[in-house]
Amino acid sequence: MNALRGIAPDLDLLAAGETAEDEALRRAADDARARAVGDDVHLRGLIEFSNHCARGCLYCGLRAPNGAVRRYRMPRPAVLRAARTAAALGCGTAVLQSGEDPALNVAELAGTVREIRRETGLAVTLSPGELPERDLAALREAGAERYLLKIETSNAALFRRLRPGCDPETRLACLETARRLGYQVGSGSMVGLPGQTAEDLRRDIETLRGLDLDMASVGPFIPCEGTPLADGANVPSAETRVRATLRMMALLRIACPELMMPATTALATLDPGARREGLRWGANVIMPNMGDPDFKRDYRIYPGKADTDAGPEAAWRRAVGAIESLGRRAGRGPGHSPRRRGEEA
Ligand code: SAH
Ligand code: SF4
Repeated sequence: MNALRGIAPDLDLLAAGETAEDEALRRAADDARARAVGDDVHLRGLIEFSNHCARGCLYCGLRAPNGAVRRYRMPRPAVLRAARTAAALGCGTAVLQSGEDPALNVAELAGTVREIRRETGLAVTLSPGELPERDLAALREAGAERYLLKIETSNAALFRRLRPGCDPETRLACLETARRLGYQVGSGSMVGLPGQTAEDLRRDIETLRGLDLDMASVGPFIPCEGTPLADGANVPSAETRVRATLRMMALLRIACPELMMPATTALATLDPGARREGLRWGANVIMPNMGDPDFKRDYRIYPGKADTDAGPEAAWRRAVGAIESLGRRAGRGPGHSPRRRGEEA
């Protein structure tokens, strides 16, 4: 199992404060990122098209039992408007994310994907949770090229406790089906979940590496009101979660140099400077939110979400500001994983 054994072998991923190994780890990840995927940072316009969810994930504000959520489904014209904005601002991709909407109309979503592809030429990434093969196939047929489904944690007991009614095997099978259907696949995990150990985090890296992914995203857990984990018991401090997330990103970059990897909104939510920091610790993607504040305000998977009250232009400007402050530049085109560039249209 281990090229990773040689990388910061003594590093406690959940160590509080800066460790002696941190800067060397960061530099190794930054070099690996520059060599494998270059200096471009790709912008993926995030569109949170529905916040309905049938699941009861203990960590997430959109869980079905949370009656305080005002639920919405964006009508197709609103999704298309957001996609057009993303294209006009120079994003190469639209990421369509939602809760596991029990009333998801796959034919309708496929029509929206087709329309986005036809009108804007953006690559389309889907992140609507677990889907059966026939739905994944219909959406692929409609032109969606990427599918994101995070493993959340490689600790199976913790996964089952945090996602009642779900099991890790089904989730992995879903990713495997998507790959077989020709999707570029992405996954990832959360950092700082209650009960999660530094050893669990190491295993997350190894599990993610074993999935041979095109994309991966690691973000800090943020306790959310209206959920059973709201009190933050057994959760490391925000600072420790940010540091642990950056270390995880670095290890992932070193383990899988060609990954497309975002500096996440969750990171920016815990520390406004951390998105820029993420770009120094291995990330090469930012996902500015293209949603209308009227909708995205209610997409509260966790509180205090960065950019919630900003319109798409402000979110985009902040992202580009972070990129350019590092002497890097916003990538052009769809920003496919280098493993797939041969297939680019
Ligand atoms: N419903 C889909 C996608 C939307 S949730 C799914 O669950 O796969 C998108 C991501 O938000 C999840 O994969 C999870 O990693 C993250 N998330 C949910 N609640 C969170 C929280 N409280 N703090 C940080 N990330 C969270
Ligand atoms: Fe629903 Fe996803 Fe939140 Fe779970 S994490 S409650 S599936 S939106």
